[in-house]
Amino acid sequence: MNEINLHNTLTGKIEAFVPQRAGEVRMYTCGPTVYDYAHIGNYRTFVFQDILRRFLKLRGFQLNHVMNLTDVDDRIIANAAAAGKSIRDYTEQYVHAFFADCKTLSIEAPENWIRATDHIGDMVKLIQRLQEKSYTYPGDGSIYYRISKFPSYGKLSKIDVSGIQAGARVDNDRYEKESARDFALWKAPKPGEHFWETPIGPGRPGWHIECSAMAMKYLGETLDIHTGGIDLAFPHHENEIAQSEAATGKPFVRYWLHAEHLLVEGEKMSKSLGNFFTLRDLFAKGYKPSSLRFALASVPYRKQLNFTFDGLQQAASSVERLRNFADRLKLGKFSAGNQQGMARRIASAAEEFDAGLSDDLNTARALAAMFDLVREANIAIDNGDLRQGDVSAVQQFLSTFDRVFAVLDDNDGEKLSALGYGKPESGPSDAEIDQLVAERNAAKKKRDFATADRIRRELADRGIIIEDAKDGSVRWKRK
Ligand SMILES: [Zn+2]
Repeated sequence: MNEINLHNTLTGKIEAFVPQRAGEVRMYTCGPTVYDYAHIGNYRTFVFQDILRRFLKLRGFQLNHVMNLTDVDDRIIANAAAAGKSIRDYTEQYVHAFFADCKTLSIEAPENWIRATDHIGDMVKLIQRLQEKSYTYPGDGSIYYRISKFPSYGKLSKIDVSGIQAGARVDNDRYEKESARDFALWKAPKPGEHFWETPIGPGRPGWHIECSAMAMKYLGETLDIHTGGIDLAFPHHENEIAQSEAATGKPFVRYWLHAEHLLVEGEKMSKSLGNFFTLRDLFAKGYKPSSLRFALASVPYRKQLNFTFDGLQQAASSVERLRNFADRLKLGKFSAGNQQGMARRIASAAEEFDAGLSDDLNTARALAAMFDLVREANIAIDNGDLRQGDVSAVQQFLSTFDRVFAVLDDNDGEKLSALGYGKPESGPSDAEIDQLVAERNAAKKKRDFATADRIRRELADRGIIIEDAKDGSVRWKRK
């Protein structure tokens, strides 16, 4: 097995991954702020951390992974008040939507999914520790962190904070501060707002203190891995470091991993450009969860991902190719024995798959290893060369692959109907049906009955009936 190498934002280098305790990984991921549905840019990060945790599990590590749900912030408080609901009632719908979306994308639940509002006491205690060490100062009932007392501030994002002028907006805090770069640990309540009565006064926590307090409560004062989107590196993660390390005097995180941005059709996603998508927007257009997962996973996490509808179609056909291949292996009849050289070929594909993922989670390289083998094995099947003795080794590799990529289960229809989406109302176009019928005919000609059958079933699922006439011609009709 290969040494696992990961890019650490803190050092700016690719480093061998060695956890503090052998065989165990303590990992934290900044979860969503639950005031709305998460968008596909968010899910790029969540799919990345899922691939990471699945790969670490595949390699035998025991995971203790925490993801938080930020269920208190300015927008949530304002929206909940406007809706006349408690914070818990208001956020509940988005928490449920997030859990359901993760399940739909086959994102595994972390060992601990926790809410900020269940941990106010832990945040207060951490702020008290910072108060005792004079890292804080009060202002109008709020409590601020004094960055000038933490000289290594900026070491993660390499940002030069000395240039930040008074009055510059770095954070969303709308309060008076000694220095523009300082940030609120605790926010005084504004009239009529929800607040908690605590030993440090009435109010609510700042966003940054949530993650420090919750991460250290569940994972200890030094974590192995902290993940998030690159936009969180500054100021959020920088502030997490400042708070945690000032309180404990210990390194907070050993490996910081950040996923790059997602673009849509080459442009930054924004509501005003009309290219802003939640998962549900795409499901409503008839796209499958497995296509989305594949599209989001296929680009290595440190590369910008340009999300396009062409790319989504390609992802759909890649997943289909894999599922067809799995079906061919399952349903085919193979002669006994082994094809010469095939066992070695399968072993080297599996080795290359592991090498790709060990190479800073290079999913493109891992996928190429899989698809190269699929192409060769399909040719071997077409020629009648693949033997029964090789089939189980290929299946074994497919199942290893799927423990990380998780796209082989043909359950998109069930997942969509669980979310309340039916089949696309318009159905496929005539041209698309003709194309699929032609592909099915070609598959039948090659005696690839698994593919032919799958296409027939897919069309049936979409309301199209195929009729094979006795003279060999094929007709189709809509149900
Ligand atoms: Zn966080």
